[in-house]
Amino acid sequence: MVLDLKQIFDITGEKKSFDYSLDLSDYPFYGTKPFVTPVHIAGDVQNRAGVVNLSYTVQFTLKLACDRCLCEFFRDYEKSFSAVVVRDENTDHDEYAVAPDSMLDMDALAVSDIVLDLPSKQLCSEDCKGLCPVCGKDLNHEICQCQQHEIDPRLKVLGDLLK
Ligand SMILES: [Zn+2]
Ligand SMILES: [Zn+2]
Repeated sequence: MVLDLKQIFDITGEKKSFDYSLDLSDYPFYGTKPFVTPVHIAGDVQNRAGVVNLSYTVQFTLKLACDRCLCEFFRDYEKSFSAVVVRDENTDHDEYAVAPDSMLDMDALAVSDIVLDLPSKQLCSEDCKGLCPVCGKDLNHEICQCQQHEIDPRLKVLGDLLK
């Protein structure tokens, strides 16, 4: 959605609300297309004493593969963002959202805010045990024998001395 903010820029106190869904089902991220539900975007833009403020909330569900154990899982997100909107494309202020000719590309802004906010790695749970590097078993569900065959480092030093 592109928001026409001409009136908002021109009239102090003016406010505009928006509420829509954005389909990102083809958007690639994490090496897959994780946006399995439409992204719900709702917020408002308001001219407060001559400064145009945007605040909005996004809600979506990601289908992810755990970075450690590779299992698939779903994660719900709800995030809020805000920015000052300016018309000057030459602003060097990163926190400003730019609306050339008073037109704000809300889709592009939401996508970049979401992507910057998501962690680079996703785990099914904070204490995911991952896969055994030797036999590949999922250590969250199975216990393998591999770990037990590893030699205690202290004993290894002793073994090396006896060689
Ligand atoms: Zn996991
Ligand atoms: Zn193993």
